[in-house]
Amino acid sequence: MSFILALDQGTTSSRALVFDHQGRVHAVAQQEFAQHFPQPGWVEHDPMEIWATQSGVLHEAMAKARIGAADIAAIGIANQRETTVLWDRVTGKPLANAIVWQDRRTAPLCDALRAAGHAANIAAKTGLVIDAYFSGTKLKWLLDTVPGARLRAARGELAFGTIDTWLVWNMTGGTRHVTDPSNASRTMLYDIRAGAWDDDLLALLDIPRSVLPQVTPSSGVCGEMVLDASRVPIAGMAGDQQAALFGQACHSPGLAKNTYGTGCFLLLNTGDRAVTSHNKLLTTVAWQRAGRTDYALEGSVFIAGAVVQWLRDGLQLIRTAPEVEALAASVQDNGGVYLVPAFAGLGAPHWDAYARGAIFGLTRGASAGHIARAALESIAFQTAEVLAAMQKDAGMTLKELRVDGGAAANNLLMQFQADLLGVPVVRPKVLETTALGAGYLAGLAVGYWKDASDVAANWHVDRRFEPAMSREHAAELQGRWSKAVERTKGWA
Ligand code: ADP
Repeated sequence: MSFILALDQGTTSSRALVFDHQGRVHAVAQQEFAQHFPQPGWVEHDPMEIWATQSGVLHEAMAKARIGAADIAAIGIANQRETTVLWDRVTGKPLANAIVWQDRRTAPLCDALRAAGHAANIAAKTGLVIDAYFSGTKLKWLLDTVPGARLRAARGELAFGTIDTWLVWNMTGGTRHVTDPSNASRTMLYDIRAGAWDDDLLALLDIPRSVLPQVTPSSGVCGEMVLDASRVPIAGMAGDQQAALFGQACHSPGLAKNTYGTGCFLLLNTGDRAVTSHNKLLTTVAWQRAGRTDYALEGSVFIAGAVVQWLRDGLQLIRTAPEVEALAASVQDNGGVYLVPAFAGLGAPHWDAYARGAIFGLTRGASAGHIARAALESIAFQTAEVLAAMQKDAGMTLKELRVDGGAAANNLLMQFQADLLGVPVVRPKVLETTALGAGYLAGLAVGYWKDASDVAANWHVDRRFEPAMSREHAAELQGRWSKAVERTKGWA
């Protein structure tokens, strides 16, 4: 019996999971690592600590599963996206801390690019909006700021990578400098349709080609890791959200998943069509495998499960996050109360950095229950807005929404989500969809699984929430929500 080892390198922790052929979890190991905030708006990770924790949990998971390297058919990697590392090709030492995706230090540079009229060209090539979120401006910042970096890059001494690239470099003893198209598509340097680094964008940001990794398929052997004197193929690589889309078996156009974590990440598979958004969504590579590239539309909501944390920590209405369900169920409906959690502005499809949170429709009858209910409903309303924008962009109608993430455990929320959308919301048994997706991409590459339908057969429903609300009522509620959202805009 052999297994697949999946590495899930996230923003706050490194994890490793051992899966079997049925996609069942045999072992999990997890280690948190330090978050560095050197200045307001800056977020950094120590790349050496990322590698140390990732390597540590890899061995720990194998020990827990009581397996050796010879029992592992392949390794797959899912990673926090956009986070940027620059290192010395000879010593393997980073020149500086990694600049994390949340880091806003390059916002002024992005404003300048926008003011200079580059938005349309960048969107057309990369599928992205100009934002400090993506790797390109972070890499430029490192090259411009670290003493001697530009000169050394020109001499070919430096390597750039997102976290997938950094891990594979270390796993292969510095012999492989590679990334996959799903990660490359988050750099703002990669033409997603041509499938290549783009010379105009490299020139615009003054990035020398010599620092860039080679782009290899998301599913395919891209290197080997020597473990206990065995060579184990590294055969799968994808950004965490794209990996989750694959792990949810959203393999064909029209299938979508939503991850309900701190925020929400929605991805809709659009097949081999890179759909241009007219509704402020991102177009991204889903994965490249078996000689073909698939694309997705992506929309993110900044505050989702975090609104429940706010009820717990800010308002102290509940002691634990799961308690919100009983509190919300203590009332029949929202009683006309709407809570817009624009605590950090609004993401897709509004993109208003100046919006702020508000509660509307309060009367003497409003209770803690109504506020809890309004908080949960806000997660579903925001998701519905993004999905509406996606369906408009893609010209597709959703058949069902597959869900994962911490807040997907909330049955009241999931039922309300199905009611609002008018399509079934489906929660799978294995919620480790990110790691599973990376594992599947790896296993498919080495023939551990035959084809996509083989892995899709492992996807089992835990619970299916059927829409039960009339479409008129759903539209009325969504209309009230829209009115509330409009009133929060431009506040700060
Ligand atoms: P992340 O990966 O972003 O840290 P997780 O997927 O671990 O997020 O989910 C954690 C989030 O889910 C928290 O914001 C928490 O408030 C929320 N959450 C957890 N359990 C529930 C629940 N039963 N109902 C609603 N929200 C929940």
